[in-house]
Amino acid sequence: MAEGRITTRTREILRRHGLHLKKSLGQNFLTEDHVLHQIVEAADLDENAGVLEIGPGIGALTEHLAEEAKSVIAVELDQRLLPILQELFVAYPHVTILHGDAMKVDLHQVIEEHLGDCKKRHVVANLPYYVTSPILMRLLEERLPLDSIVIMVQKEVAERLTSEPGTKAYGSITVTTQYFTEPEWVTLVPAHVFMPPPQVDSAVIRLKIRPKPPVAVNNEGLFFRVVRASFGQRRKTLPNAISAGLFGGKRKGEITLWLEEAGIDPKRRGETLSLEEFAHFTNFLDERLD
Ligand code: SAM
Repeated sequence: MAEGRITTRTREILRRHGLHLKKSLGQNFLTEDHVLHQIVEAADLDENAGVLEIGPGIGALTEHLAEEAKSVIAVELDQRLLPILQELFVAYPHVTILHGDAMKVDLHQVIEEHLGDCKKRHVVANLPYYVTSPILMRLLEERLPLDSIVIMVQKEVAERLTSEPGTKAYGSITVTTQYFTEPEWVTLVPAHVFMPPPQVDSAVIRLKIRPKPPVAVNNEGLFFRVVRASFGQRRKTLPNAISAGLFGGKRKGEITLWLEEAGIDPKRRGETLSLEEFAHFTNFLDERLD
């Protein structure tokens, strides 16, 4: 089969600049036009949309975003790619390339400065896999002014983010993501459409940011501590896990009693609790702690 346009483009750019991709930076570049289209379509962009792209690489996705959006700000960590990106987008005044680490740059400021005049704002990215979860948690917990996040992640991560209570994939990242967003599976992407192919398949997911969480939580800090503790020790029942995570192994008896009073069987494990149950128990606990 003949080589696709993006594959040829990628090879050509890498050859011309004498570049070798870095595994340590999660550099697996997408080479299929139709997958790039699917990602952009899922973001549902229009002439009022602003996009923050994390890790533009050599701009394959950025090109598509530039066609659809009002403004694009792309943050790339690898300094070697900056001149390539600058050259590619020199004729696009609405595309800005920023050298930086997505874990460190002030994202509120970046969004305000570059996408401040856009009616809707989205993150669209093929995320570097070594840092997917921390980046996603940052995007959510900092409550950035976003409408949606469309990301390519490892298939296993996509499964976690979209899973239901009681399943193996359900974890604290699921609860946190579902607290802030409505996750939706977009498409599975096989490893062979990347250059170089990663070890695992990927998936595109769309996270629609909720205007407000679906459950009322009186003390958010405590809520996230309870969630993390409950999944911290997966094989432990709730009193053991919460006692270990929140009270240094103490107060097991009280936790058991509080769970019973809240109508939650203390023999249950964290992975069986729904978002509503976590919220209900945290509110209950919050009232009982000094
Ligand atoms: N967007 C391109 C594509 O779809 O083909 C490249 C995606 S590649 C999976 C991930 C990109 O993120 C790489 O270009 C890598 O250098 C960049 N990157 C890795 N860590 C980063 C970080 N902490 N902040 C910003 N970019 C990062």
